[in-house]
Amino acid sequence: MNERIYEKVFIGGEWVVPKGDQVLKSIDPSTEYVWAEIALPGKAEVDMAVAAARAALRGSWSKFSATRRGELLAKLANLIRRDAAVLAELESRDNGKPLRDTRGEIDRAADWITFFAGAADKINGEQIPYRPDALAYTRREPIGVVAAILPWNSPISMYAWKLGPALAAGNAIIIKPAEQTSVTAMEIAKLIEEAGFPEGVVSVLPGYGAEVGAALAAHPDVNKIAFTGEHSTAQQIMRAAAGNLKRCTFECGGKSPHIIFEDADLERALQVAMHSAFRSTGQSCSLGSRLFVQRPIYERFQDQIAALAGKIRVGAPLDPATHIGPHTSAEQLAKTMKFIALGQEEGARLIAGGGRPLGLDRGYYVQPTVFADVDNRSALAQQEVFGPVLSMIPFDTEEEVLAMANDTQYGLVAGLWTSDVTRAHRIAHQIEAGLVSVNTYRPVHFMLPYGGYKLSGIGRENGLDVINHYTEVKTVVVNLSETPEPSPFDGI
Ligand code: NAD
Repeated sequence: MNERIYEKVFIGGEWVVPKGDQVLKSIDPSTEYVWAEIALPGKAEVDMAVAAARAALRGSWSKFSATRRGELLAKLANLIRRDAAVLAELESRDNGKPLRDTRGEIDRAADWITFFAGAADKINGEQIPYRPDALAYTRREPIGVVAAILPWNSPISMYAWKLGPALAAGNAIIIKPAEQTSVTAMEIAKLIEEAGFPEGVVSVLPGYGAEVGAALAAHPDVNKIAFTGEHSTAQQIMRAAAGNLKRCTFECGGKSPHIIFEDADLERALQVAMHSAFRSTGQSCSLGSRLFVQRPIYERFQDQIAALAGKIRVGAPLDPATHIGPHTSAEQLAKTMKFIALGQEEGARLIAGGGRPLGLDRGYYVQPTVFADVDNRSALAQQEVFGPVLSMIPFDTEEEVLAMANDTQYGLVAGLWTSDVTRAHRIAHQIEAGLVSVNTYRPVHFMLPYGGYKLSGIGRENGLDVINHYTEVKTVVVNLSETPEPSPFDGI
């Protein structure tokens, strides 16, 4: 029996029954049963949401002061905190992450929105000393209607990352959650209503990428797409968005290098390498999935990682003892299993995991898996698995590891461990990635810009930098001189 049924979707401040009679079925990945059904909007509802967003931008929302926008965001953040326990449980059911992870993610999402609540009335233009007899300044104006297209791996985080800056800067937003994980998006829509945002400022449209997502990407009245997902989807969106030259920011995948030099604090590096490889069942864009270890410590490190990987508790998302839950979908489980087989075919040495955990007959579970002696040019090392599959690669010199680290189509995150401070900076400057961490890994935070080089994306999220991606710059020049301007048409 389905435990949650949503017959209406949130459009323009109202709960609307979609015109079609289709429903989206959400599967609990720990049981493989459908546990929620959500009415499916289509093209008509996309048009409705865009029209409502436009009306809000022309009307009530444009009259809100920046400080009042911030207040509404702060209220939403507090409502999320109030309901965090319930939201965490729903997210664990829908996505499969352990409860302690979803709880942490929801608390952080509230902090993210709070940060942008505070930023709303600090979005300034500049005064420019263009001429002594002119006043030149810039204004940062909202871009307009933003469509946020979200992935299934971190649904609430991605919601907050996009909604916070979009609304702080005065845009209206249409959220399209991933079809696999729409339940918490529907719940947050209720909190948006309770917070009292004006009609049309936020709409939430669950639905399939090829339908609702594609309709938003092509819509002539949508001004910006803020997308997180696979780069191949970003490429399709870019083509669809070309019609009205939509502003696009893309956060895509990664195959991030995590480099351990022999002079590092190896105990700490080991713990962090484990976490960075297996967290969220490997369903994270920023995994340290290519672990480069300097030759003198390679064998020891290998044995330790393999032993620890075998101790990770794979289990039900609602069990407090669980370290990692199931994959979110049958498709992702099949993809991970395909890469495990491929790694073996390519000659990498399987030293931990490699199969389904014993005793878990239902659910999309997989063992944390480690391959040693992986060739950096192999498919296993070059393609994003999005599962708990770690590739270990030995290296001798700094030059060699830098060349291998950069030899990838991605460039999202990189981590390195060393006690040599000059080497740390030298590598940080040369590595092609949007976030480099030294003696820690992936410090993702609302204050720190985050995003990718190469196929890992376009633009940055987080930090105050992201506001640039949610505003248009308008330059205004006022002539203060009373002297007539020189003109080639003098005397006419
Ligand atoms: P995906 O690209 O399959 O789907 C993402 C979203 O795009 C979904 O909402 C989907 O419905 C929609 N979509 C699909 N086709 C579309 C189309 N033609 N037009 C418009 N929208 C469309 O990605 P996914 O499988 O949900 O997420 C996993 C990917 O996301 C991984 O590659 C991962 O690395 C990446 N990711 C990146 C970050 C980051 O911050 N860089 C964070 C999380 C996930």
